[in-house]
Formats: sequence, C-alpha cells, structure tokens
Amino acid sequence: MTSTNWAGNLRYNAVMLEEPTSTIELQELVLLSPRVRALGSRHSFNAIADTLDTQVSLAKMPTEIEIDAEARTVTVSAGARYGDFAQELATAGWAIHNLASLPHISVAGAIATGTHGSGDSNGNLATAVAGLELVTGTGDVISVRRGEPNFDGMVVSLGLAGIVTRVTLDIEPSFEVLQDVWENLPWEQLFANYDAITSAAYSVSLFTHWGDDGITQAWLKSRTDDPRSAAIGDDFYGATRQQRQRHPLPDIDASVTTTQLGVAGPWWDRLPHFKLEFTPSNGEELQSEFIVPRRNAVAAIEAVRALAPSIRPHLLVSELRTMTGDSLWLSPSHSEDCIGIHFTWKQDIPEVEAVLRDLDVALRPFEARPHWGKLFETDAATIAALYPRLDEFRALVSELDPDGRFRNEFVDRWIFG
Ligand SMILES: Cc1cc2nc3c(=O)[nH]c(=O)nc-3n(C[C@H](O)[C@H](O)[C@H](O)COP(=O)(O)OP(=O)(O)OC[C@H]3O[C@@H](n4cnc5c(N)ncnc54)[C@H](O)[C@@H]3O)c2cc1C
Repeated sequence: MTSTNWAGNLRYNAVMLEEPTSTIELQELVLLSPRVRALGSRHSFNAIADTLDTQVSLAKMPTEIEIDAEARTVTVSAGARYGDFAQELATAGWAIHNLASLPHISVAGAIATGTHGSGDSNGNLATAVAGLELVTGTGDVISVRRGEPNFDGMVVSLGLAGIVTRVTLDIEPSFEVLQDVWENLPWEQLFANYDAITSAAYSVSLFTHWGDDGITQAWLKSRTDDPRSAAIGDDFYGATRQQRQRHPLPDIDASVTTTQLGVAGPWWDRLPHFKLEFTPSNGEELQSEFIVPRRNAVAAIEAVRALAPSIRPHLLVSELRTMTGDSLWLSPSHSEDCIGIHFTWKQDIPEVEAVLRDLDVALRPFEARPHWGKLFETDAATIAALYPRLDEFRALVSELDPDGRFRNEFVDRWIFG
C-alpha cells in the first residue's frame, strides 16, 4: 500500500488500509490486527496516524447526524468532516462553538490531537465532546460520557483509547458571524495591548511573517449577537481595515477564504478561514505549532521573533490564536488558558527540522506543548514533564488496549518513551 498524508510529506508504512462498513466489521478487524491505527482525513503532518500493519478509515461507515434538542447535543459518525454536517446542523437551528481553520478535517481526528480554532473564551474542539462510542483494543464497544471516570483521558487520546465510531458534541442555538481583516499591526501595539487585541472579537487570528511589519493581518470574527468588532473603526491599534477580501499569504487568490468585509453569514461559513468547496493549500506545505500558557504569551512571541532570521526563509506564514484551558489530560491547553504559535512552512524538510530544534530550545522556558498533529523536535522527557496526567493516561491505555494494538512508533516515542 502506498498512501501519503494530506501534505504528501509522509508515506505511511501501513501495509493495509481497511474500510469497514459496520461496527461489527470494525470489531473483527481490531481483533485480527496485531497493530492497527485509525486514519482520519490524513491532515496530520507527522506519523501519529501510521502503523506497521493496518490503518482503518471510517469513511465507509454509515453517516449519522442525530440532534438531541433537549440535551443540546449532536451525535455524528466519527469519520465525518466538520463541513459535512455543519450546514445540516445550522439548518436545524444549531451550532457548535468553534471550528478549525479548515472544515475538511475529520471530527475524530481533530479531537484526538486537541485541534483548535481561536477565541479568548473558546476551548479547543475536543472540549465540545460530551460523549464517545469506541471500539477498544479488546474489540469491545464502549460508550463514555462527560463526567464519567476516565472520560477526560479518552477524548484527546492520540488514537490510543480505541477507534472512535460516534462522537456526541455540545450544541448551542445557531449564530451568525461577521469577519473583517486589518493589516499591519505594529509589534509594539501588540505587546502593549495583547489582551485587548485578542478579546476584540469572538475569534481573533493574528498572522505574521516575523518581520518588522509586525502582525501583517488581524482576522476578527464577531458573532452578530455580540458584535464586538463592529465597534472598531478603520484603525485597529495602528492596523488598517481592508476593503478587499484577503488571503493570509500575499499574492494568493482570496476567493478560497471565507467571506470577509463585515458581511454576516452562518457560523460554519465564517469560523473556518477556508471554504469547504476549495482546497486551500498553497501547494506543498508543512505545519508546526506550540501551545503556550497565556501568562507567557508575550515573552514566547518575543523569543520566536529573536529567531526570525532563521525562520523567515522557510516560512509561508505564522498565525497566533488563543484558547481557554480545559481538563482533558493530553490536551495541549490542559489546565490553563493558552495561545497557539503556529508556523506554516515551505517543504524544506531538513531546514525546517533545524529551525524546530532552535524553536524547541527557545520556547522551553515558556512551557510550550507541541501540537500533537504537527511537526516538532521536542524530546519525550520535556513533553512528559508538561503533562501532569500522563501516568494516568498510560494506565488507562493499558486497560483499554492490553495487547498494545493501537501502539505505533510515534506514541512509543512520545507517550511511552
Ligand atoms: C491545512 C491544514 C489546516 C489545519 N488547521 C488546523 C487548525 O486550524 N487548528 C489545529 O489545531 N490544527 C489544524 N490542523 C491540524 C489537524 O487538525 C490535526 O492534525 C488533526 O488531528 C487532523 O485530523 P485528521 O482527521 O486528518 O486525522 P489524521 O491526521 O488522519 O489522524 C490524527 C490522529 O487522529 C487519530 N484518529 C483519527 N480518526 C480516529 C478515530 N476514528 N478514532 C480514534 N482516533 C482517530 C489517528 O489515529 C491519529 O492519531 C490543520 C492541518 C492541515 C493540513
């Protein structure tokens, strides 16, 4: 089998790709495979979804979307992409609290790595999980709900708790969002007004190339029932409101980005940066991201800026986002409010690896946790020290997967290493 991840930087070692059409078939597959990994929409940049034996895609499992208005939840098939059910949810009058930059990512794959959007009052996407159904390493189907023992260890589980078949997510009444972009926000304004800037809208994303031009673009997404950014004039801390649709990268067609210019639209068509009907890639790319406690935000950004000369030649764009802390054991935003310092790189693999080693050293004093689905060079001991519930997680995994069917090289190195 020769299959690659979405970015094409990684060829999976798996010898088989199975696509079960029912939970019973999936249970049989798990019991037959000495090593098995769930494969989502293949958007991770590292070998987290790889295995030496069988990958399992849930793409052919029956699709499901079941709204429980009283419980305020929706239950969806785990292999669904957010964009696949978001419109139906909105048509029924409901929303989920946030989305990642891309609506093409599978629900189970996103929550397994703690994927996030932005917003000072928004948890990552895994914090919306109210319940899971999964097939464990013993082939059993189990369900677990928020508040039950070990639930917090099973949501962001890097695929180790089992193969998730159904996910129940919190929902809220549907809402509309308007989005505007301001350009060229100076560094000194960012550092002097960090909290005011990131709380100026429901979701704020700050793009930079780490140059003297500071934040090249500030994307503000406001709910129309809380139109914070509507009060902002054409000047936003020295940045200028744009009158044309923008792409985060210069000179790229902005028709792939979700509508800006203050035009209100449904949450699912404004919270992601990119439209579902387009592939937003600028060709080949790599990504890395460090999730840093918010109390260290400004110092960590300054530390990255000091590396600008070695970062810039290999960078397409960086993005700064915010998220609330949560109780999920392996969530990169575990226990306190955080910021994400993200890098979209050119596919200069050895050079990017070298820069990542420097970034690891520079960000270590600021307790930076690498995004589980992106590229990093942080060593296992450093990561272990950043996750206070790691021992409990390891114990939970040995209960759910006693034969280590879901283990792979990636988790052996960073979770069990
Ligand atoms: C263009 C692009 C944009 C991105 N934007 C963002 C962003 O805005 N924010 C952010 O935080 N991240 C972002 N990411 C990273 C991405 O969200 C994560 O890597 C995510 O985990 C990918 O999900 P996937 O469905 O592709 O899963 P895969 O990459 O296929 O797998 C990831 C992990 O999920 C596990 N998994 C998948 N399905 C299941 C299942 N059914 N049961 C159990 N485990 C499962 C796999 O075993 C593996 O451990 C982006 C990536 C790309 C390529």
